[in-house]
Amino acid sequence: MSEKPRALVTGGAGFIGSHLCARLLAEGYRVVCMDNLRTGSLRNIARLKNDPDFEYVDHDVTTYIHLPGGLDEIYHLASPASPADFERIPIPILKVGAIGTYNALGLARARGARLMLASTSEVYGDPLVHPQPETYWGNVNPIGVRGVYDEAKRYAESITMAYHRHHGVDTRIVRIFNSYGPYMRLDDGRMIPNFITQALRGEPLTIYGDGSQTRSVQYVDDLIEGMIRLMRSDETRPVNIGNPVEYSVKEVAELILRLSGSGSELVYRPLPEDDPRQRCPDITRAREVLGWEPRVSAEEGLKATIEWFARETGGSVR
Ligand code: NAD
Ligand code: UDP
Repeated sequence: MSEKPRALVTGGAGFIGSHLCARLLAEGYRVVCMDNLRTGSLRNIARLKNDPDFEYVDHDVTTYIHLPGGLDEIYHLASPASPADFERIPIPILKVGAIGTYNALGLARARGARLMLASTSEVYGDPLVHPQPETYWGNVNPIGVRGVYDEAKRYAESITMAYHRHHGVDTRIVRIFNSYGPYMRLDDGRMIPNFITQALRGEPLTIYGDGSQTRSVQYVDDLIEGMIRLMRSDETRPVNIGNPVEYSVKEVAELILRLSGSGSELVYRPLPEDDPRQRCPDITRAREVLGWEPRVSAEEGLKATIEWFARETGGSVR
């Protein structure tokens, strides 16, 4: 029998999940990737499938999770994450945040495994405190179109803390801020995939609103490093993992135009309902507790991402 630790990654065939599976394999884990491919893809894990320590299980985590064999860690990432999906599939988003998290916690409890919940900066909603520390409780419209995702994640945090306090489950909560990188879905609908595909095709970049709203964008390698460090720490409070360098949406578009050498123009479209005005993490806790901070600049990370998108679409970067 192998002595290697075994980790389950729900949502492992998604953008972040596939990077996490690859990193855990490299760290000497046996990895079970569980997904129902609602927004993920087998293409994301094609590079892992021949590894004898990698196993793919097709399963919807909103139904009871049966997983034989030892289990040490659960990274619970299963959930659509693009605002474009909030109107398209609102009820599956609510179900996976609520019932999916309940099932994952039940598995952690039954097997004595440590569980990390992939939460989000969206728990802060359209924040009235800037930048956002973990102690801020947020400003969320529960009945707005974004509410299905924000409230599902807020509920997921609540039930995670309840299992921790009431059942003694060993839990971690990572509040992930806007992340990007290779293996994002080209037609995912989020800002960076939209802008890059538009720039590479020579189509206009669609700025929602006047583009003055801000986001902090984090390269996926920095995020994975933060998640691994948090999982290994003793910290059971939520921890923000994000890049505190803040850009307006228009600045991100202009940076992508420059890095891709695209001649596309910018066009302006209506701002979606409840679109947060500004978002930037306070990462004091991650710095102090995990000794973590992002290392990859937007310029460096976007360049690598544009190159990957260009290869995927058969195009080239000018
Ligand atoms: P993604 O859509 O690429 O990945 C999510 C994965 O979950 C997909 O593979 C999808 O098929 C799977 N999934 C969805 N419902 C499922 C279900 N019921 N059962 C099993 N699998 C299911 O998105 P991502 O960007 O990789 O996000 C991963 C996690 O990180 C999500 O929980 C998301 O909320 C969180 N997050 C991401 C960001 C970001 O910027 N990418 C920011 C904050 C939080
Ligand atoms: N956005 C945009 N054009 C697009 C897609 C998104 O201007 O084609 C804006 C969106 O309105 C938001 C920001 O970019 O203000 C980030 O959007 P994203 O979908 O990446 O995620 P969010 O941070 O809103 O969850």
